[in-house]
Amino acid sequence: MHDIDFDNNEFWKHVVVADWVHDLESSDSRLHKERVIEKALMASKLGSAGAQGFLFNCYLAYNPFYVYNVRQVPETEGLTGRPNPWPIFWGLCENLRTRGVTGHAARDRIEEVSELFDSEQWNGLCRRVLIKDLRCGISEKTLNKVLSKTSWKIPTFTCQLAQDSTDRPAKMKGIKRLEVKLDGVRVLAVVQGASVTLYSRNGKVFENFPHVADAIAANRKSIGAFGGRYVLDGEIVGASFQQLMRQAQRKTNAKTTDMVYHVFDIIPLDSFQEGHYNAQQCKRLDILTGSRERFDATDCLRLMDGITVDLDTAEGHDIMNRYAQDAVANGFEGIMIKDLSAPYECKRSSFWMKWKPTITVDLNIVGFEEGTGRNTGRLGAIICEGVDDDRRICVNVGTGFSDTLRDEYWTSRDQLLGDVVEVEADAVTQNQDGSYSLRFPRFVRFRGFEPGEKL
Ligand code: AMP
Repeated sequence: MHDIDFDNNEFWKHVVVADWVHDLESSDSRLHKERVIEKALMASKLGSAGAQGFLFNCYLAYNPFYVYNVRQVPETEGLTGRPNPWPIFWGLCENLRTRGVTGHAARDRIEEVSELFDSEQWNGLCRRVLIKDLRCGISEKTLNKVLSKTSWKIPTFTCQLAQDSTDRPAKMKGIKRLEVKLDGVRVLAVVQGASVTLYSRNGKVFENFPHVADAIAANRKSIGAFGGRYVLDGEIVGASFQQLMRQAQRKTNAKTTDMVYHVFDIIPLDSFQEGHYNAQQCKRLDILTGSRERFDATDCLRLMDGITVDLDTAEGHDIMNRYAQDAVANGFEGIMIKDLSAPYECKRSSFWMKWKPTITVDLNIVGFEEGTGRNTGRLGAIICEGVDDDRRICVNVGTGFSDTLRDEYWTSRDQLLGDVVEVEADAVTQNQDGSYSLRFPRFVRFRGFEPGEKL
């Protein structure tokens, strides 16, 4: 597709690929990085094999659906004059990705291939592709800024999101499925044959729930067909949300075996990658229900329960209200209201709506205020900003923090700047100058581990 001669190792012997990474590393400026990518694109169009090889490696490194299942990839030292057979390296990537080679065999094969490359090429590019970070200050966003309209475009990871039902009263009609809103972490399980990879809603790989991935792998043939390529959508729930977040981000020794994956949707992988699946919600649920026994036979997979109501009737509304009250009384966050005739769309839409007893918005931290009185020397309030439903909200949030959290967040405020927080409030209010704020805002929790991240 890109004129790359995949098989001819002899041809690649003289092609310099890693230099593009050095060029990217040479300046921190975003503009510089975009120019280098533009240059590579232009050179690739003019037939430069080095540029094509570089762009292909970018694709392998930043495509979220390509995961090589390796934790550590060793560097080499002082190797020069090697054949640098890129086709062999790309074959290795493919084998690792599809689990054609795993465990010790994978480790040995990586070592073998590493010795075929100059250390500069291996350490500077191949190794970084396998760990999925080219370490030169670019991300899939930087690449797509230049490559989005070309065939080098990096696929992005998106999933279906919900709207607030109070903002969509006109959509609260017809036949709906109601489910409780679980208070856990959204997890999308991508099944490709024997390989099962768990992702966050932003496409970050979760490695800390191997028991869930193993249970899906063991049952993958009975859960879904779709030629063995599909995505399960659901929520992993632990004893508490805070505990779950702590374990989800641990690098080693995570204790997650008591956590359960509640599956509420299934989508063929190709459709998921395209961003939509036309089968109606009720059809998708039927597929899942067909393998309910398989789910129940495991200790960590469950099918999400729910009920069907007709919101065109007063009775349907009564049932929904009771369902919602019971959900809250039983400690759930609220309920989900799903359109049974709707397709799966990888974006926020009214196909899924959420109802909570209070509103919550996700805002970015843009500053901090020191407290006064007993809070002198620690956090008084976080200053938050963000857009919710096309309304720009600016608000100072000063409640919802324990004394310990006030100390902790004040000390680490530099690292927390830009992080996404969930803020609960009674309502969105409009200020006299037309901007929006929140009535009785209170801090609930951080939504991610990095600036701007929301899990
Ligand atoms: P929010 O994060 O407030 O926009 O609410 C949507 C989130 O609710 C989803 O991303 C899921 O993580 C979570 N969720 C909990 N239970 C369900 C459910 N039954 N169906 C869909 N999403 C759910």
